[in-house]
Amino acid sequence: MPESLPEAVAQVVEHNDAAATAAAEAPTDSEEAAEDEELADTPDTDEGEAQEAPASAEVPNGPLYTAELSDEQLTDLWKKEPTTLGSISVGFVESGRMVNSVRVPQAQDNEWIVVSPELAWATQETVDYLSTAIREVRAQYPKAPPIRVNQLSSREGGYLRPHKSHQNGRDVDLGFYYPTAEPVRVRARENHIDLELNWALLKSLAIHTDVQMILVDKRVQKVLYDHALRKGESKEWLDSLFNAGAKSLVKHARGHRDHFHVRFFNPRAQELGRRIAPLLALQPDKNIQMHRVRSGDTVGGIALRYNSSIQSIKKANRMRGYFLRIGQVLAVPLRGPCTRCPVPPPLVVPARRLPPMLEQAPAVASQETPSSPTEPQQPSVATQAESTGGSAPASTETGTQPLAPETPAQEPAVQGTPATSHTSSSVMQIGPAASR
Ligand SMILES: [Zn+2]
Repeated sequence: MPESLPEAVAQVVEHNDAAATAAAEAPTDSEEAAEDEELADTPDTDEGEAQEAPASAEVPNGPLYTAELSDEQLTDLWKKEPTTLGSISVGFVESGRMVNSVRVPQAQDNEWIVVSPELAWATQETVDYLSTAIREVRAQYPKAPPIRVNQLSSREGGYLRPHKSHQNGRDVDLGFYYPTAEPVRVRARENHIDLELNWALLKSLAIHTDVQMILVDKRVQKVLYDHALRKGESKEWLDSLFNAGAKSLVKHARGHRDHFHVRFFNPRAQELGRRIAPLLALQPDKNIQMHRVRSGDTVGGIALRYNSSIQSIKKANRMRGYFLRIGQVLAVPLRGPCTRCPVPPPLVVPARRLPPMLEQAPAVASQETPSSPTEPQQPSVATQAESTGGSAPASTETGTQPLAPETPAQEPAVQGTPATSHTSSSVMQIGPAASR
């Protein structure tokens, strides 16, 4: 929601010098690269896109995860019954959106708390992976307190302040497990988290989901790594998760000392997003391109570039004036097929990284892709229009790192989605190593 913005300022304003300076002074070890939500608005490289390059060198010839749909069928369904396609992740984590999103349901057994239901939208795959991973922890530790599920995406995806990513339904911020449901709100969280449960969560994510990466501060990583090692986990496996440089599953990022930021691959939703890209114009009200504002951009220039119009851009983004911020992501309504819209590369989901104990049995990994392709999910029914983020995220964007509140928006976690009968959550045993 725009505050009262000055009218007729058709210039991008570089407002975030402090953050930019902080970035320049930051430690430059390669692990630092991943993402930093505190710097969400600063101009920088398209890290999200780089991270989404295909995991293997081979580029598939055709669809891998939605092969049951021919191009003709897809075109037809997209045109006539788009909801039957299930969740679609469009574009990039840092410049993207969603179609047919679903909402993280309230937990059936108090396994988790949805902190901000209005920002708990994601793809079906993300919701299934998330619930599977958490339920697995609860299955092993029946007395585990609920974990706090913080922000995912807004209902349609797109820019969600203050995050840089969280745009196409694949990112979720998860609180830590503490001895009780209530977070210990001190800065050095690593001294207060429940190591056993948080390690179980990481392990569950690695084994039971197609997790792409987990961002968390290295001080938290250290206590979890040490704990896992003491438990007898394979050092080689742990190093592949924590200490493999750019290939690590768990990566350091500033601003992540009080939560995990988890990003999932979405084989189906991402592949659909790619396939749908040339067909967007068949659904005029879904024919929207997300544009990340760069230095020098103007509303008029963006309208021209995408063959859109100034008025429709302003309306779609509820803008009163022409004020743009670098790093801001605009929804640009299109009037026809987009010829200048970047499309993510084809996705090939890498094999899961299993501990040695499980490596013999790769079947465990492949059975669990959630949300059956033959049974497209209806988007969840929760109807009320999304209240926009005015009240939501208050995490500070300065470089000073005060005690970040665990989650600013203390929405009562009421009304959730009537839990659609989605699949997942068959509780899988991880194996002997897990039960120690
Ligand atoms: Zn996040």
